[in-house]
Parts: sequence; structure tokens; C-alpha cells
Amino acid sequence: MITDTFGRIHDYLRISLTDNCNLRCFYCMPDEKYAFAPAAKLMQPGEIEAIAKIFVAAGVKKSG
Ligand code: SF4
Repeated sequence: MITDTFGRIHDYLRISLTDNCNLRCFYCMPDEKYAFAPAAKLMQPGEIEAIAKIFVAAGVKKSG
């Protein structure tokens, strides 16, 4: 089970597949010009599956 320092249980996982989002919410994206990561630097399908399995083993029940 994954808990934070306030004792809250975290059983929901969201995995960002890309940093290339054009909505630019202020809390997520910098104001200045930003160089997006090339595709080769992003997690590959096998890596995404591997990290998801680790979180499932730790108690994650949902993803989005
Ligand atoms: S928080 Fe906003 S800018 Fe960041 S990924 Fe989500 S929609 Fe895009």
C-alpha cells in the first residue's frame, strides 16, 4: 500500500506518456519556451508496463 506523510492511501496511478501538451496549465508547464523531449527519450511500452506492474504490486487499483 502506498501512503503519503499524511497517512493518505494512494491507489490511483496516472502515467504521462508525453510531455508534449499544448494546454500549458500554469502549474505544469513553464512560461518560457520549452523544448519537448524527443520520442526516444520517453518511456517505451515495455517500461510503462514494468512500472505499472510495480505500482500494482504496491497496491494501485486504478489508472487513468
Ligand atoms: S496539467 Fe495541463 S499542461 Fe500539464 S499535461 Fe495536463 S493538461 Fe497538459
